[in-house]
Amino acid sequence: MSKNNLINYGFSGKELFAAEEYINTKNEDAYFPARIIEERREQYRVVWEGGETTAIIKGSFYKTLEEGDMHEETLYPVVGDFVVIKHNSSGPSLIETVLPRRSQFSRVDFLGHAAGYAKNVKEQVNSANFDYIFIMSSLNYDLNLNRLARYLTASLQSGAMPVFVLTKADLVEDPEARAAEVSRMIAGISTNVPVFCISNKTGYGLEELKPFLEPGKTVVFLGSSGVGKSSLLNALADEYLMDVKAIREDDSRGRHTTTYRQLFRIASGALVIDTPGMRELGLWDAKEGISLAFSDVEELFTSCRFNDCSHTNEPGCAVLAALEDGSLAPEKWESYKAQMKENAFVTSHSEYLRKKQAFQKSLAIHSKSRRNKHE
Ligand code: GDP
Ligand code: ZN
Repeated sequence: MSKNNLINYGFSGKELFAAEEYINTKNEDAYFPARIIEERREQYRVVWEGGETTAIIKGSFYKTLEEGDMHEETLYPVVGDFVVIKHNSSGPSLIETVLPRRSQFSRVDFLGHAAGYAKNVKEQVNSANFDYIFIMSSLNYDLNLNRLARYLTASLQSGAMPVFVLTKADLVEDPEARAAEVSRMIAGISTNVPVFCISNKTGYGLEELKPFLEPGKTVVFLGSSGVGKSSLLNALADEYLMDVKAIREDDSRGRHTTTYRQLFRIASGALVIDTPGMRELGLWDAKEGISLAFSDVEELFTSCRFNDCSHTNEPGCAVLAALEDGSLAPEKWESYKAQMKENAFVTSHSEYLRKKQAFQKSLAIHSKSRRNKHE
């Protein structure tokens, strides 16, 4: 492998430049740009100009995390990250720094910087630096439009471009009619989000995904278990099929499961991130994404007469007025409410939120006791 191959693994001039800037501050030759292709407990596999190697995080990473000093440079590396390694020919290389991300799911600042939270952070921000997100759903069951809307809002806040991929077109009468349903849902949230129907069985529609699978572009697959993520990866993988198979193992029920996170280079030259964690998108608080997508709706709240307006029957409610005069489409309002409800449900059940609240509480107590000291 050579420096050119870093480009094959998605490095753009921007990342190469950032890596060079970091490396220039060192007085040794041992530093190289690399990309994380696999994460397994504390061990990483990375590609660098010398090929593939194993890497671990340098010790001071943990130190900064414990001190709660989470700068952009000290983010925990995840699959897809562009990093600088200090190469070690007699053992694992050291991951020195994580280069600025173009995109990522979930956000560190949102999770707090508490000591002992490193694990959480690591599990929440589970991939980075993707260009496209394939939001996948199968056509042969009822489409869960609320869930797809949630995927969409989370995707819109990630920094990458969402693309809907509706699978198993071979199993339904009129796939395009269902695609139209999805398009209508999308129209309430965003513009220019494409929708494709495909079949991994017959190959139908795969051709249309090509523009998103150009060499060096990174795609992440998002969708519930069973929608056909592995099948699509296999269909696209071609000569890399063996690599894909190698990491699939049968679990106790004889199902094929992905055992750890990976970034694959597929035949077209594109990179695909397939991570088990992605499957449980429900763990994120998508509030921010929803607010972004419905900023015009939330803007109305500021004009309600009462601060705690529930927008159901209050006099002087700006939402009710907007619904009345037609400036707010009823579908949009319904979609907003449905998403907020689903998000509230999901987040109230998520472990990290509980911890986040505990952390905020401890901060509150901390600042209170500090205040008391000054009194
Ligand atoms: P994953 O859990 O999202 O990775 O889903 P899989 O790729 O493992 O697919 C789940 C099941 O659906 C498997 O039995 C696949 O053979 C089947 N499947 C996937 N894509 C298609 C498709 O386009 N058409 C049909 N008929 N079956 C599919
Ligand atoms: Zn109101």
